[in-house]
Amino acid sequence: MSYTKDQISNRKFDVVIVGAGGSGMRASLQLARAGLNVAVLSKVFPTRSHTVAAQGGVSASLGNMSEDNWEYHFYDTVKGSDWLGDQDAIEFMCREAPKVVYDLEHMGMPFDRNPDGTIYQRPFGGHTANFGEKPVQRACAAADRTGHAMLHTLYQANVAARTTFFVEWMALDLIRNEAGDCVGVTALEMETGELYTLQAKTVLLATGGAGRIYQSSTNAFINTGDGLGMAARAGIALQDMEFWQFHPTGVAGAGVLLTEGCRGEGAILLNSNGERFMERYAPTLKDLAPRDFVSRCMGQEILEGRGCGPNKDYIHMKLDHLGADTIHKRLPSVYEIGVNFANVDVTREPIPVVPTIHYQMGGIPTNINGQVVHTVNGEDRPVNGLYAVGECSCVSVHGANRLGTNSLLDLLVFGKAAGDHIIANNKPGTAVQDLPANATDLTLARLNRLENAQSGEYAQDVANDMRAIMQAHAGVFRSQEVMNEGVKKIAELRARVANIGLQDNSKVFNTARIEALEVENLMEAAQATIESAAARQECRGAHLVRDYEHDVTHPTCPLGRNDAEWMKHTLWHSANNSLTYKPVRMKPLTAETVPPKPRTF
Ligand SMILES: Cc1cc2nc3c(=O)[nH]c(=O)nc-3n(C[C@H](O)[C@H](O)[C@H](O)COP(=O)(O)OP(=O)(O)OC[C@H]3O[C@@H](n4cnc5c(N)ncnc54)[C@H](O)[C@@H]3O)c2cc1C
Repeated sequence: MSYTKDQISNRKFDVVIVGAGGSGMRASLQLARAGLNVAVLSKVFPTRSHTVAAQGGVSASLGNMSEDNWEYHFYDTVKGSDWLGDQDAIEFMCREAPKVVYDLEHMGMPFDRNPDGTIYQRPFGGHTANFGEKPVQRACAAADRTGHAMLHTLYQANVAARTTFFVEWMALDLIRNEAGDCVGVTALEMETGELYTLQAKTVLLATGGAGRIYQSSTNAFINTGDGLGMAARAGIALQDMEFWQFHPTGVAGAGVLLTEGCRGEGAILLNSNGERFMERYAPTLKDLAPRDFVSRCMGQEILEGRGCGPNKDYIHMKLDHLGADTIHKRLPSVYEIGVNFANVDVTREPIPVVPTIHYQMGGIPTNINGQVVHTVNGEDRPVNGLYAVGECSCVSVHGANRLGTNSLLDLLVFGKAAGDHIIANNKPGTAVQDLPANATDLTLARLNRLENAQSGEYAQDVANDMRAIMQAHAGVFRSQEVMNEGVKKIAELRARVANIGLQDNSKVFNTARIEALEVENLMEAAQATIESAAARQECRGAHLVRDYEHDVTHPTCPLGRNDAEWMKHTLWHSANNSLTYKPVRMKPLTAETVPPKPRTF
């Protein structure tokens, strides 16, 4: 049976937030405490959002373990981003970091403690003191369950602030009026299959990442890039989607993450000769060099025949020298993951690991207030009524490579900043803008095409093929030829997405319908990624293209990075599958610009 306009109910709010992970709930907390009428939608119960899986910590230069300050953090983040991060946004984030972490502490977040009662901080990849001189302990941790502790703290604070949650509701499309303002979303109540319009003065997207476009991923099944799909269909460009982070230590064969906190606590990576090979590649930071760098070194060891195991296709991570007491106290989940997913007791033997897709550096372009922006003649202009925060957004603080623990920080800083900006611009007593006459046309067309296509392909078959293509054509090591082939294959796959059908048209909790809708969002993220990647003819951060590799002494492109041509952000436009570019913001708010230099560790 088709969906029709007259079956659609409407509800009105000051703010609708799509996503109840760390970013959505940090923003909603700010808004609910200010007395705004705020609705938060989530495909899953809020505390099951993917933030719950974050393990290692949240960065802030508290200086609890040794001297640290926001300038060191700022420098590390700019260098970590391989100079693609916007330096004004990075300064803002690093300066705000201690405040947002202390806010959480005051809400009751159960951080680990030092003997003097201060928050425990551990070393993490790329975190240094004195501008790269030596490692520093900056990651504030709650054992290896930091995201779990954070999400529960935020949920409880939201319940106290009377935020309204719509649990197991899936937002489908943004509603924009003739002026281009965002005035609401369409949404499906998953339990009943009923369709709604949620009308609002402001919509904030906080839908997390799209890690499920890859085959081997540390991401949850719900990370299907829905916010990216909604934005792309509504005419908003996606920024820097070629940059995907492979985390060095996914459990080989399973993909489950073993936090960088393992290496922060002293774990080391070994090749089949038992050699601690990172000492060769990164003499100062060794195993704690940034993730893009470590992942590539691991790949190189495997390619050169020094991988471990019968097929020489993984690396060993050794923790047993830390001692069982430290492992059980600081890394209890890592111990459990070892037993459950690799049949390995990490207190006694090394665990097989491989680089695994983990984080999207790109996303929906925003400014530091969380406002979604579109670029006209090189100038960023806010889209009225639309914000984005968290992993679905690109502000851009992570540039071409994110530093570990900067994501939980990004979602706290920009979740709060977006909330503050919405409050400052909310005019009490003003009405929500009217919905345009065509508010539901796109959603109805998408749903009804599925309802009437019983003979089409099964959504998961198409999704599996997409994941295989992305894994093979946009991996740790890329080449121009392989990416170009990927562009063609993904374009062909788009036609198959349009041919997905539903065998079962029942309304009540029909997961097949939901999966089919998710695949449409994955498609936008995958095409944005492969098109943006194939166009960028250089090596930068996580984007390593064999054709453009050079050594560090190259006069114009050291390590393959071509600043003259490519120090710019990519913007991918879904409507005509095209690319435009905009400059990187090199001027910080108050600090001195960190000038580009070859990125060695
Ligand atoms: C295993 C793992 C460990 C990590 N560890 C760390 C770490 O130690 N430190 C760090 O800084 N970062 C870490 N990260 C990264 C970090 O956890 C994430 O980037 C961050 O938590 C994302 O938060 P978010 O609020 O943007 O999205 P999420 O927490 O993913 O939340 C997304 C929300 O959007 C909802 N949603 C999505 N689509 C829809 C839709 N269509 N309709 C309604 N709701 C929708 C979901 O239900 C969910 O509530 C880790 C990541 C992984 C995968």
